[in-house]
Amino acid sequence: MTDNGRRAELASSLDRVRDRIARACTAAGRPPDAVTLTAVTKTYPASDVLLLAGLGVTDVAENRDQEASVKADAVRAEGVRLRWHFVGQLQRNKARSVAAYADVVESVDSVRLAEALGRAAAARENPIEVLLQVSLDGDPARGGVFGDDLWRVSDAVTSSEGLRLGGLMAVAPLGEDPRQAFARLEVLAGQMASRHPGASTVSAGMSGDLEAAVERGATHVRIGTSLLGMRNSLR
Ligand SMILES: *Cc1c(COP(=O)(O)O)cnc(C)c1O
Repeated sequence: MTDNGRRAELASSLDRVRDRIARACTAAGRPPDAVTLTAVTKTYPASDVLLLAGLGVTDVAENRDQEASVKADAVRAEGVRLRWHFVGQLQRNKARSVAAYADVVESVDSVRLAEALGRAAAARENPIEVLLQVSLDGDPARGGVFGDDLWRVSDAVTSSEGLRLGGLMAVAPLGEDPRQAFARLEVLAGQMASRHPGASTVSAGMSGDLEAAVERGATHVRIGTSLLGMRNSLR
């Protein structure tokens, strides 16, 4: 496809996604600008990131370090500045690499990962914004902190100079109405904001469930498929 063809395609899907977000805000009685769109660009090329940036997207997310690192470099080389979010499961030995390009790491779910990221961030000018990924169903296979561990990890983040605690991130569990799952997230977000004022970001909602997330107070939605199209691999 030509660059212009792809631009037109992305422009119209972006319009549709923005419209969905605006309607969901209205339905929830929230102002239309209460929710930030984060474009999940995994598996798609840097050229798509540049087109989205040209269409006004400010935040992009990736879930694999190697892919993200190359893409962020390519975009920066074009002189385009975006907020890069890392949303994938993160191994501690990748913390240094991620700290080189990520503005926000949304998938912190252990004290040891928070400590590794804090050490890696020491070399940076600005702290990394950290969201704690919470598990809404306690299934350890899918990542995320569960129960009282949340407070141990949040304390590890706030005690690190290289990190700033931004709030929470979650993925709705399979096989449950996302409204119910995101209602539990909303409760946790309230507890988090009263324990750590300023940690008020709630990243929730993907292509299939953004309305449910906005209804339950999401401040950021992470949209891949509805913006960029179906991915070849399931990730
Ligand atoms: C891939 C991914 C998304 C985007 O999912 P879509 O269903 O394609 O919108 C959001 N969050 C995370 C953590 C992801 O890995």
